[in-house]
Amino acid sequence: MLLGFRRLLSYRNSVLLCRNIKSDNTSRCAVLDSALSAFRLICGEDGVSLGEAVREQHGKDESVHRCCPPDVVVFPHCVEEVSALAKVCHNHNIPIIPFGTGTGVEGGVNASKGGVCFSLRNMDQVLHLHQEDFDVTVEPGVTRKALNAYLRDTGLWFPVDPGADASLCGMAATSASGTNAVRYGTMRENVLNLEVVLVDGTIIHTAGKGRRARKTSAGYNLTNLFVGSEGTLGIITKATLRLYGIPESMVSAVCSFPSIQAAVKSTVQILQAGVPVARIEFLDDVMIDACNRFSCLSYPVTPTLFLEFHGSGQSLKDQVNTTADITQSNGGSDFQWAQEAETRNRLWKARHDAWYAAQALRPGCKAYATDVCVPLSRLPQIIVETKEDLIENKLTGPIAGHVGDGNFHCLMVVDPNNPEELHRMYLFTDRLARRALAMDGTCTGEHGVGLGKRALLCEEVGPMVIQIMQGLKATLDPNNLMNPGKILQ
Ligand SMILES: Cc1cc2nc3c(=O)[nH]c(=O)nc-3n(C[C@H](O)[C@H](O)[C@H](O)COP(=O)(O)OP(=O)(O)OC[C@H]3O[C@@H](n4cnc5c(N)ncnc54)[C@H](O)[C@@H]3O)c2cc1C
Repeated sequence: MLLGFRRLLSYRNSVLLCRNIKSDNTSRCAVLDSALSAFRLICGEDGVSLGEAVREQHGKDESVHRCCPPDVVVFPHCVEEVSALAKVCHNHNIPIIPFGTGTGVEGGVNASKGGVCFSLRNMDQVLHLHQEDFDVTVEPGVTRKALNAYLRDTGLWFPVDPGADASLCGMAATSASGTNAVRYGTMRENVLNLEVVLVDGTIIHTAGKGRRARKTSAGYNLTNLFVGSEGTLGIITKATLRLYGIPESMVSAVCSFPSIQAAVKSTVQILQAGVPVARIEFLDDVMIDACNRFSCLSYPVTPTLFLEFHGSGQSLKDQVNTTADITQSNGGSDFQWAQEAETRNRLWKARHDAWYAAQALRPGCKAYATDVCVPLSRLPQIIVETKEDLIENKLTGPIAGHVGDGNFHCLMVVDPNNPEELHRMYLFTDRLARRALAMDGTCTGEHGVGLGKRALLCEEVGPMVIQIMQGLKATLDPNNLMNPGKILQ
């Protein structure tokens, strides 16, 4: 109870802090003034913006966290410019906030302590494609859809798919995953090397310059230190990524179940049977109803699985037959098939639009997605308990989940101007996170810590690990200039 109040208070305080900074920024203005001319020399008049609309656009993501605009937005064109800009910020002690496409859902780009937003959208080149080695190097403004469009005629693709058309380096920064992770892994498994500009402008390559070996035992894994660092350790200016061959055939299916337990139990059994399912997504009755309305579909309003299988000939048949046996033994309906690319795309677009479908349930409200992840065997229990909690507390929170990884979201639809409802939601999300921690899970499977989960991170990893994280942060960013206030309190 107390913790919920505290979170509400700290949320309000952070909003007030932003307002104070806005109205009382004389000394900061003086510092910025002297930095601005240097910024303009580095990336030109067009590469620096003080416009209110541009700053506001860069001071928020898709989360409920209120907009905290940076003091200035810069648009570098190359790593040398990023490095020179960082040096100026470092010399003037100005915070730096990296910005990809702003699709994050944890307030990661909010400039809660002011500073300079580095928008990386002008660095949007696919640099080195090694088809024969299944890897590619991209600049930070390349989005996952742009990369897959670029790869279209090569027979290759990049499968990590957070739904939104996020930048690939933003995805590395949040350790994103999504619907394909059950088969192809998350960003952690798919980043081979990163070029990073540190706070003082130093440029490093986490696996060594030009290295792109598919595996390595060479020293500490700095690549994975930066994956998930949410802009708090450096600015990612290049990512070398693993690619995969486009599967010979793909088939998607929808299956309805009489209960949540039946759907989730089927998921666990499918994975235990070793079926290499490519996607297995759970939608509860409220979520499928919202998707039906939003995307003009007509699936039964009961707990549902969306599945996808990748493979060729006999292997695809075997996967489908084993899965159908399991779902039927748990009372699942016959599969509704989607085989043509167009029908499959429509199905997955509906799943990816779940966030907007949830928001459409209550026009004018905002969505906040919880993101817990637990070991597979605990999944049925946690989803059932969570659903009961939602009903008891009269909260709108359709559930959609990457259940193949034990990861699911309650898409909480709340009125951001109703403090009582916000309070009820915070209490609920705290309870849910604690439930996941008590079941050996994590408070965030893929969205990151950002502003809202810093206290939960401490509970999850314990004070010793937090101290080590603080030590790493102090080594790489001694003046706490890189995206301050995110991840660590
Ligand atoms: C409808 C919808 C569905 C989503 N579904 C999923 C999902 O299924 N799975 C999932 O994982 N996420 C999901 N997300 C969240 C979001 O897409 C991811 O967090 C994404 O990885 C953010 O990328 P971005 O480029 O938009 O980053 P931003 O929002 O711009 O930034 C996110 C964080 O990364 C930092 N950052 C960005 N770029 C860099 C860089 N080059 N160097 C260093 N730090 C950087 C920022 O400072 C910030 O802290 C969803 C979002 C939406 C709106």
